[in-house]
Amino acid sequence: MSFASLGLSDALVRAVNAHGYTTPTPIQAKAIPAVLAGGDLLAGAQTGTGKTAGFVLPMLQRLSTNDALAIGGRGSHRPLRALILTPTRELAAQVEESVRVYGKFLKLTSMVVFGGVGINPQTAQLKRGVDILVATPGRLLDHHGQGNLDLSRIEIFVLDEADRMLDMGFIRDIKRVLALLPRKRQNLLFSATFSDEIKTLADSLLDRPAMIEVAPRNATVDIIQQKIHPVDRDRKRELLAKLIGGNDWRQVLVFTRTKHGANKLAEQLGHDGIRALAIHGNKSQGARTRALAEFKEGGLPVLVATDIAARGIDIDQLPHVINYDLPNVPEDYVHRIGRTGRAGATGEAISLVCVDEHEFLRDIERLLKRQIPQEVIAGFEPDPRARPQPILQRQGRGQPQGQQRRSPSAGHRGMGQARGTPAAHGLHVGNKSRHAPAASPPRHGARNGTSTRTHAPRSTSGLRSGTRD
Ligand code: AMP
Repeated sequence: MSFASLGLSDALVRAVNAHGYTTPTPIQAKAIPAVLAGGDLLAGAQTGTGKTAGFVLPMLQRLSTNDALAIGGRGSHRPLRALILTPTRELAAQVEESVRVYGKFLKLTSMVVFGGVGINPQTAQLKRGVDILVATPGRLLDHHGQGNLDLSRIEIFVLDEADRMLDMGFIRDIKRVLALLPRKRQNLLFSATFSDEIKTLADSLLDRPAMIEVAPRNATVDIIQQKIHPVDRDRKRELLAKLIGGNDWRQVLVFTRTKHGANKLAEQLGHDGIRALAIHGNKSQGARTRALAEFKEGGLPVLVATDIAARGIDIDQLPHVINYDLPNVPEDYVHRIGRTGRAGATGEAISLVCVDEHEFLRDIERLLKRQIPQEVIAGFEPDPRARPQPILQRQGRGQPQGQQRRSPSAGHRGMGQARGTPAAHGLHVGNKSRHAPAASPPRHGARNGTSTRTHAPRSTSGLRSGTRD
């Protein structure tokens, strides 16, 4: 199959081919024709599947084809025609980069706005007029509040990584954005998991969507070699330094559960003679961008990241991902190790697991439906008498900072996270059995009297939350 056979124009096919891609990935093969057809779309796909091109390419085609219909001319009267919302700044920047790459033979313009950097240059650029805007919700609303942009002429709206948006507490911002959009538009929603909250959001946002899913995400991690190194909690840093230094690894992404843990680890690795930088939500955007750029270019051997900061980071063929701490949300494990073994390349994902994390490991293996091989490193044998200690909850998932987790199984799911909902189990296309639809939410905008859609609420039949373990 080729990109041309999916109905993409010559300008887009040339741009994709020039970027080195000749064969569409499964999500692209399904999403591109669906989006070109003009209807709404609900897609179960995570980062690493090629989903970005799956919506960017047909969006560019539709915008360029409808160009003549776009009201308003060039320059300052040029209306914003497409809006892509993403949960993180890094993902926003990456998506906008894709828009540029794939749209290089088209006349469409794009820009990205996110917080943590000065607003004035963004304002100036917005006022010059742009076709496609990629944004994180907070900064988008700031710009709207300042009268810097008009969302009333949006033709295509994309909600990327919707599950993570909800995890990060963006639901109110999303609703505020929805209320600013015109009634007639095309909506595309991408999510890796399908909690009840996502179903509710999909019901309120999408009009008779096409529903697609890609290979079960568990299958996408098959090419990644996973390994557990059992180790005592206070010897993890030593073991990490030995693994990196001893194997002469040059590009390692290390995950920690907390921002403080990321800072501390990067600093300690420095004392061990291993250069490392940390990225997380408390770092300035400039520091995050610089660290990521240096890491991507191969100048920085170790990047220590929290889940949210690393979300969507796309580094081709990253050879090593290390879970210094296991995540308390099992789905995050899949997202983390998805940073390696991308687009067909093999990769290695290693987890350093101490006695405190055995329940997290059990939850992860239950989600993967398999056991991860364990290997004890000589000299780092864990103390068999060690007893588990409670683990501090990560911030940013609806829990107050520093809240203690009572038990891994009881308290590890954030808001918006259903129990065990890998995409493979969350989205069933053409599923005959109907599941009780979630209670219909108020239509977006209805509360403030600006109801934005005319069709009757309906449920996204065929969608169901994951099977309970
Ligand atoms: P995404 O899921 O959109 O973050 O994409 C994951 C990675 O796959 C990125 O590095 C893309 O550049 C790459 N990619 C996207 N489409 C293709 C394709 N058709 N063939 C090979 N790699 C691709």
